[in-house]
Amino acid sequence: MSGGGWRRSDKGLVAAMTLALLLLAPGGAWGVESLKFKPGFNLFKAQQDIQLGKESVEQIDKKLPLVTDLQVLRYINDLGRRLASFAPNNNSEYAWTFKVTNSSDINAFALPGGYIYLNRGIIVAAENEAQIAGVMAHESGHVVMRHGTHEVSQALLAQAPLAILGGILGQTGSLTAQLAELGLGLGLNSILLKNSRRAESQADEVGTYILYQAGYDPHAMARFFEIIQNKYPQKTIQFFSDHPVPENRIKAVDSEIPLLGPAKEWKTNSPDFEAMKQRLLSLPAPPRATPAPPASAGPSGPPPLPSSRLIKFEGKGFSIDYPDNWQVQQSEDAVALIPPGGIVEVAESGSAQAYGTSISRFQPQTSRQGNWGLIDATQELLDMMRLSNPNLRVIKQGGMKLEGRAALSTLLETDSPLQGQKERDLLVTARQGNSVFSLMFIAPESSFDAYKPVFDAMLQSLELQ
Ligand SMILES: [Zn+2]
Repeated sequence: MSGGGWRRSDKGLVAAMTLALLLLAPGGAWGVESLKFKPGFNLFKAQQDIQLGKESVEQIDKKLPLVTDLQVLRYINDLGRRLASFAPNNNSEYAWTFKVTNSSDINAFALPGGYIYLNRGIIVAAENEAQIAGVMAHESGHVVMRHGTHEVSQALLAQAPLAILGGILGQTGSLTAQLAELGLGLGLNSILLKNSRRAESQADEVGTYILYQAGYDPHAMARFFEIIQNKYPQKTIQFFSDHPVPENRIKAVDSEIPLLGPAKEWKTNSPDFEAMKQRLLSLPAPPRATPAPPASAGPSGPPPLPSSRLIKFEGKGFSIDYPDNWQVQQSEDAVALIPPGGIVEVAESGSAQAYGTSISRFQPQTSRQGNWGLIDATQELLDMMRLSNPNLRVIKQGGMKLEGRAALSTLLETDSPLQGQKERDLLVTARQGNSVFSLMFIAPESSFDAYKPVFDAMLQSLELQ
């Protein structure tokens, strides 16, 4: 264990007081809070979280450059395990293994079963121990609330309900292989890492709770996320894409803290943190980011041609036909229709859609003023897309009709996730209630014309409620 003598007396005392209060008032506000942390719908057993995490780690470790310095790893693992010991809904068999990726991008992610990766960049960006503890507590929240397998469960339910009822996941053998058979092979890691806003709020709540229990300033987590988002917008794109910022994050956390118990003298820093950070800064600089080769998991070469047989996809408030050799990937607020091999890995932990259709709905900022226009709202969407695709360019834009309602068609050029290629996107936006419904048809520039007839047929089939 690291750390000086800071906590022994305080923590013991507070723990004793908390215990006494819990015994006196078992229904009291403080104790009840920890019981509210309930994981969502999940088809996996906790044991399978560990197995799936382990299998993913094996793949990921082959691709990521890792920091192997023992002082750094010992500090991070000591701190991580100490934090995890306060986590609600913990499982004694979770791995609680913390790795440091040798990358200057600011990122962190958790795999099911307790495998957590911190980029060197996020540790260096932390100004004190409480801030890095905040990141680790938040990631631990994703683990104990089982957000990774929750997302996979949702995707499976949409894709292979019969297979699930048949108990395919109950078999022994590689889970990754079984999931691949069910059509979730490609981009499995990206499903595991992609969190919904709801999962983010929950990871925030759990992370704040863990910080409080471990004696750290519980404000540190949300504040640190805000600092890195404002200070390093270019280096945090992947982090905030996998961890979408919940609405009113700071406010939500600030209102949770009083419920956790009385204010304490929070711990914010330690000599061990400073020593570890110096050590990390003294190691050879991280390798420069290099574009990843096209997906090693997927078939090489372009996807097979879209099947001419179309099948219907029924989404929330819409339906659309799509080629029957494509796959569906669904998250809380988006649906992707993807040809086999249409997802490619781009950066260390990310993947991107290079072919197919992506459907989502968003609430424009301008809608807060009540009377808003589709052109401004679409512009807002394009501005958001530019955050991760700075080379995005509008080729042409024009009005159209979509089932009798006014819609906007925008043809875009940007960088394809396929190395060295340009991408062509057709973005169609329409107003649906107080939101914007958006459809994006995606293909590399060289094959856009070949995909155009399929995209047109899909657009023709769209029904909007
Ligand atoms: Zn998160």
